[in-house]
Amino acid sequence: MARDERGVTPQSEDFSSWYNELVTKAQLAERGPVKGTMVIRPYGYRMWELLQAELDQRIKDTGHDNAYFPLLIPESYLKREAEHVEGFAPELAVVTHAGGKELEEPLIVRPTSETLIGEMMAKWISSYRDLPLLLNQWANVVRWELRPRLFVRTTEFLWQEGHTAHLDEADAMRETMQMLNVYAEVAREIAGIPVVPGEKTPGERFAGAVRTFSIEGMMRDGKALQAGTSHYLGTNFASAFGIQYLSSAGQQELCHTTSWGMSTRMIGGVIMTHGDDKGLVLPPKIAPYQVVIIPIARGEAADEVQAAARDLARRLKAAGIRVHVDERPHVSPGFKFNDWEMRGVPLRLEIGPRDLAAGTALLARRLGAEGKTAIGLDTAPDALRAALDAFQSFLLQRATDFRESRTATVNSWPEFTEVVAAGWARALHCGQPSCEDDIKAETAATPRCIPSEAPAESGTCVRCNAPSAYGKRVLFGRAY
Ligand SMILES: [Zn+2]
Repeated sequence: MARDERGVTPQSEDFSSWYNELVTKAQLAERGPVKGTMVIRPYGYRMWELLQAELDQRIKDTGHDNAYFPLLIPESYLKREAEHVEGFAPELAVVTHAGGKELEEPLIVRPTSETLIGEMMAKWISSYRDLPLLLNQWANVVRWELRPRLFVRTTEFLWQEGHTAHLDEADAMRETMQMLNVYAEVAREIAGIPVVPGEKTPGERFAGAVRTFSIEGMMRDGKALQAGTSHYLGTNFASAFGIQYLSSAGQQELCHTTSWGMSTRMIGGVIMTHGDDKGLVLPPKIAPYQVVIIPIARGEAADEVQAAARDLARRLKAAGIRVHVDERPHVSPGFKFNDWEMRGVPLRLEIGPRDLAAGTALLARRLGAEGKTAIGLDTAPDALRAALDAFQSFLLQRATDFRESRTATVNSWPEFTEVVAAGWARALHCGQPSCEDDIKAETAATPRCIPSEAPAESGTCVRCNAPSAYGKRVLFGRAY
């Protein structure tokens, strides 16, 4: 069948078209009527729910409580932290009219909630005994996007934002790194994205933060996706909002605060980390359907095969496997195979009359194994559980190998430009913002992070030969 009817543009031809076509054809999401907004369809939303549940559990396990704060923030709140308002000003949506008249004070649709939560923290904290205060909220936020892309950059997106207040810098930094590690674990173990955690250079910091850390994943076009950030905010927001405590020595002290977020952008990361020319490839842990069963029989045998497929599905569900039986009539098995392949289902089971007579079903994997293997119907739950675990590990390893094949340590400018054209470069850098700007203008690459695990090293800047900064190599790449 022609590609424009059923398939998608190959990645190598046009990665961006591949992505846009796939998001629509796999029924993950569509553009909303307002530019930059996104309708998340059930198949895409289920992926988000599964990821969210894993992250939420880890947020709770590390001692945080969920709460909910309002969507609208008084404009004056944002103005209290100068860098924060300056950084967010171009992206703000502002409500000026409500209830049929102009408002005395405009309201901001939250782009993030440091200011409003900071105001509440100031009310709730009075003594060192109230610390640490560990909050999280699951919410939508709005940041006006001029170059939207579904999941990756949308005007409204879903996320969680953690906000915490601490006694001192040491405790707040422990929190900042703990949550960075939680994000790295969720990205690797759940989404199968082998992210690199590290610190942002000053030019890439969150507006109002003292230090910003991120996890960076490599997409299959060699570009980086920032998939989560964790910020140490120092006392910047504490002094702007009066978040203080009476110390055990009887002194008024400012709290040290943090914030951290992971969003629906992760779904875009999953699509671009694992997908191929046939469509989506989903890690089992966030696949809406982990196994699809396709009964193949006509005429007299159809009822018996159908019943066996349903019985198998019931037993798989009981074993905690997300399974779907594709019983669409008047649709050929071949069409169903291609359809579920495009939608990224990890495992496919075919059952026909001959399989049934032999007490088996035929298992096909979305990636990593050619051909089909027969599995026994009696032992199917255990066999499929093992196959799903193996598939989850396989995807992480495949993505890790891909990232390594496209990452190189470089010591000269010609090497740098060649490497960042297709992937990431580990390079020494002087740390000067003007030099970062120059590199970006020449190659479109930016410093993604200073990897936490990079060994100590110093020398001269790959671009300008000035002495290197940070005491480590910086990871550079083009980014979403
Ligand atoms: Zn330089």
